[in-house]
Amino acid sequence: MTAKTDSTPVIPAPPQSRSTLPGAPKEYDFFKVVQDYLEVAAKVINLEAYVGTILSQPKNEIIVNFPVRMDNGEVRLFKGYRVQHNNLLGPFKGGLRFHPQVSLDDVKALAAMMTWKSALMRLPFGGGKGGIKFDPNSVSKHELQKITRRFTHALGLNIGPDYDIPAPDVGTNGQTMAWMMDTYSNMVGSYQKQSMKGVVTGKPVASGGTLGRAKATGQGMVFCLIEWAKEHSFELEGSTMAVQGFGNVGSNAAVILSKLGVSTVAVGDHTGYIYNPEGFNAHKLQDHVQAKGSIAGYPGGKAISRDEFFSTKVDIFAPSALENQIGDAEARTINCKVIVEGANGPTNPAGEKILLERGIAILPDVLANSGGVTVSYYEWVQNKRSESWTEEEVDAKLERAMIRAYREVSDFSRQKKCDLRIAAYALALQRIEAVYREREIFP
Ligand code: NAD
Repeated sequence: MTAKTDSTPVIPAPPQSRSTLPGAPKEYDFFKVVQDYLEVAAKVINLEAYVGTILSQPKNEIIVNFPVRMDNGEVRLFKGYRVQHNNLLGPFKGGLRFHPQVSLDDVKALAAMMTWKSALMRLPFGGGKGGIKFDPNSVSKHELQKITRRFTHALGLNIGPDYDIPAPDVGTNGQTMAWMMDTYSNMVGSYQKQSMKGVVTGKPVASGGTLGRAKATGQGMVFCLIEWAKEHSFELEGSTMAVQGFGNVGSNAAVILSKLGVSTVAVGDHTGYIYNPEGFNAHKLQDHVQAKGSIAGYPGGKAISRDEFFSTKVDIFAPSALENQIGDAEARTINCKVIVEGANGPTNPAGEKILLERGIAILPDVLANSGGVTVSYYEWVQNKRSESWTEEEVDAKLERAMIRAYREVSDFSRQKKCDLRIAAYALALQRIEAVYREREIFP
């Protein structure tokens, strides 16, 4: 379905992480945004005040500073975070981000969102998130391995297969998880070593990962989008899409959707933005990014600015890079029918208000990108049972889980007359509240 005329080499427009239009998002207090959504959702369900108070802050905030000797002999100090938001429903669970903009506040926001996601998807997990503030593209592979291992060591027993289970996020991948699992297994001693595979998820399959995990977040977005399309008589086949962020999440969503006849016509990442009205070959572009680290230098299409990217006319817009990308200015120019949030927090509240006023549907992060943690759970179960499921089994389970979650969120939103994001938060909060009511507060 997607026409492939990817032939002319293209140099993407220079990196520009913010709109130049007036009203574009600048400073951003991501954690406050998540706290505000929590408050709104709490009102919708009359959440017990003490439950809201507990959930308004993370349980633990861990900061580690650790040294690594770099290839040139210099010693560099790195700052790493692990925020453990809540573990009422099960072990803390959530990704690790390697990015120069990692901050404690952002990690707190992302950790809280993991608590809602696990609860919404009925997983026996709580929420956590972590990261290291540095640019993984600026170090050698050898240095990256040392940084990852030393960070794992610094976290020590603050993580564990029954306590806190990291996974990949921006700037990390299966390889990162293999190094972490290996480091952790060697820290606990020979007798326990074999039962430590589940300390991280998103591992490569040969190292104890599950089939279907690498594409799981993109796959979950697609299942969610299919349900939305059915509900709104929207024809996926023949539709067009713009994807911001062509890493794990964005590229897999584009590849899977290309098989359903969705043509990706605009793509962007940290190096710039490109446009091809006939549609990029999502597979080839994914291969290019995996080989080169970005879309830069991909042949085909023409370089466009960030502002042009956001105003490209498409049916589906899939923000799959970072938070706070769609603010006031972007929301006014975005020209699509539905936004499927692959990234966490890509739409800020001002942007969201405008989009909803304009009648653009938003499939919110907590629902739309929850396929990743859901398949992470399947991986963790397989590790515990020493099993290996087929990709078909994993996909089928994920499909059922996403359909159920979509329907619950959609029904709730209709009944309570709230948007899908607040509905997703509210459903998650209801489940957590039910357990607090039963267990009460220790002592
Ligand atoms: P990734 O590192 O594989 O890809 C990140 C992409 O974002 C890259 O293409 C990168 O170039 C792009 N990017 C970075 N900075 C940018 C900028 N300033 N402007 C435009 N593009 C930029 O990461 P990922 O795992 O695909 O994660 C992407 C988003 O999805 C994040 O918000 C993450 O929290 C969320 N998410 C990931 C998973 C998962 O399973 N990996 C699950 C749920 C949610």
